[in-house]
Amino acid sequence: MIVSRPTLYRDAALADPSGPSLRKEVSVLVDAGHVVWIRSSSDEGALPPDVHVIDAGGSTIVPGMVDAHSHVTLPGGSHWIDRGADPPEELLEVAEHNGDLLGRAGVRWARDVGSPLAVDPRDGQKRALALRVRERWRLDPNRPRIRVAGTWISHSGVITGGLLIEADDGPALLKAASTQLDDGADFLKLYLDGPKKEEAPWSTEDVQAVVELAHGRGAKVTAHSGFLVGARVGIDAGVDSLEHGFELDSDAVAMMARQGTFLVSTLAIFRSWASFAQTTTLPRFVSDEGKERIARRRERAIESVRLAYRAGVGVATGTDFGGGSLRANHLAWEVESLVEAGLKPWEALASATVRGGDLLNEPEAGRIVEGGPADFFLVHGDPLTDPTALWRVWRVAWLPG
Ligand SMILES: [Zn+2]
Repeated sequence: MIVSRPTLYRDAALADPSGPSLRKEVSVLVDAGHVVWIRSSSDEGALPPDVHVIDAGGSTIVPGMVDAHSHVTLPGGSHWIDRGADPPEELLEVAEHNGDLLGRAGVRWARDVGSPLAVDPRDGQKRALALRVRERWRLDPNRPRIRVAGTWISHSGVITGGLLIEADDGPALLKAASTQLDDGADFLKLYLDGPKKEEAPWSTEDVQAVVELAHGRGAKVTAHSGFLVGARVGIDAGVDSLEHGFELDSDAVAMMARQGTFLVSTLAIFRSWASFAQTTTLPRFVSDEGKERIARRRERAIESVRLAYRAGVGVATGTDFGGGSLRANHLAWEVESLVEAGLKPWEALASATVRGGDLLNEPEAGRIVEGGPADFFLVHGDPLTDPTALWRVWRVAWLPG
C-alpha cells in the first residue's frame, strides 16, 4: 500500500534535453506518482495543505533515463560471459540487485535485449529468464519499467553455452522468432554476427520474413551488429534497430536514416575494457595485442556513431550491462561516450531519455510533462552541458527517500 502525500520539489533547475539551456527556479508538484504541475518557484500559487516540501535548491531535475541495451539478469564485470551460466535462481537475485542499481542511477526504463533460457519451475518449460523478471516488476512502482526481447536468436557456432536459441536456416529462424513471441517477448533480438566474421548468418530474405512476422504481431525486431556485413543484411531486411553498430559506413547510415532504423550505441564497452588493462590480469585486456585490438575497434565504433549521428539516424543509448562488462548503474558512461562521438551533451542526454522512449514506442518515457508520471531524478550540475553531472545523483523521485 503506497501512502501518498503530495510532494513539492522547490527551486530546482530543470534539464529539458530538447535544447542546451537549463530552466531555473522551477518547482514541481508531484502527487500519486504523477506530475501535477511545473511552475516558476516565485509563482507557485496555492499548495495542497498536506504538501511535503523538498528544498531542491542547487540540484537539477532530469527525466528518468532509458537504458536501451541491457541484460537485467546478468551482472557484468570482467567475467561477464561466465556469469551467464550461473544457476537461474542466482540470476534472478542478480536481476533484483540490478533493479536497485538502475533506479538509484536514475534509469527508469530498461530494454532487455537478451537473457538466458532457463526452466520455468511453474510449468517446466524453458523460456527467457527476463520474462519472469518483467512479471515480478510489473506491479512494483519502485522497480524499473522493462521491455524484454526474450533470448538471443543466433546462428550455431557463435555464442557458446546453450543459453539461447540457435537457427541455421530461414525456416528455423522463423520458428525461433515465433516461439519467442509465443513465450511473451515484447520484441525480437537477432544476432547478426555469423560464425565467420566476413559472412552474415542469414540472408536478407530470411531476416525479412522474421520482420514481417514480428510486425504482423505488433512486435519490433532488433539486431546485434558487430560487423558491417551483418548490419547490411539487417538494414536491407528492414529491422527496426541495430544494437552496437560497431562497423557502419556512410551507405548504411544513409539508408538507416531514410528508413527510420534506430542505432543503439554501446560505446562505453570499450572504455570498460580499457579499464580492465589496469584492474585485471586477463590477457585479452592486458596484453599489448589485446589493448591494440580494443583501441582499434573503439575508434571504428566511435566513427560509426559519428556517421550515424551526422546522417540523422535516431540514436538511443545502452550500457550493454550484463551482456557486456558494464554494471547496471553505468549509463552515464555511455552518455559521456556519445559526447566523445560528436553529440552535444544535451543531444546525448536526449538519446538516453526521449530517443529511448521513441525506440520503445513509449511516449511518456524520458519526458517530464504535467499529468505524466513523476519519472525524474535530481543531480548536481548541468547535464545539458556536462554529461558527468549524471553520476552525481542526489534523489530519485520514484524511489522512497
Ligand atoms: Zn548486449
